[in-house]
Amino acid sequence: MARTAEPDTVAVIQAMHEKLSYRAIAHELGLDHRTWPPTLRRIARGETVSVYKENYVRRALGMEPVTLMVETPACPDCGSVHSAGRCNGKPVTVRLVRQRTPPPAWVREATRNLTRMLEEARR
Ligand SMILES: [Zn+2]
Repeated sequence: MARTAEPDTVAVIQAMHEKLSYRAIAHELGLDHRTWPPTLRRIARGETVSVYKENYVRRALGMEPVTLMVETPACPDCGSVHSAGRCNGKPVTVRLVRQRTPPPAWVREATRNLTRMLEEARR
């Protein structure tokens, strides 16, 4: 789904771009100068950017990550939100599954976000 960066992310990158090239901003933030300048430009111009990439940039900036919002129907049994289906009244635990190759950083972050969301939804 098309989304643009949060206003505060846009403002910070725009402010930095008044003095620095996107390549220099990437360097300044410790981001790969070959892959990140186009993303920084997209953020500053209000073009589409994924929440994963934006959060990667926000972390580099020392900003709080944007919460990933997804629409999920409530469980018919308990009214909570589960990652899939219904719990049939049984207690739900978030289970971490070992993978052969470690997932990339943005996947790990998305997983953390989802885990935190599920934990908050259960409270
Ligand atoms: Zn349930």
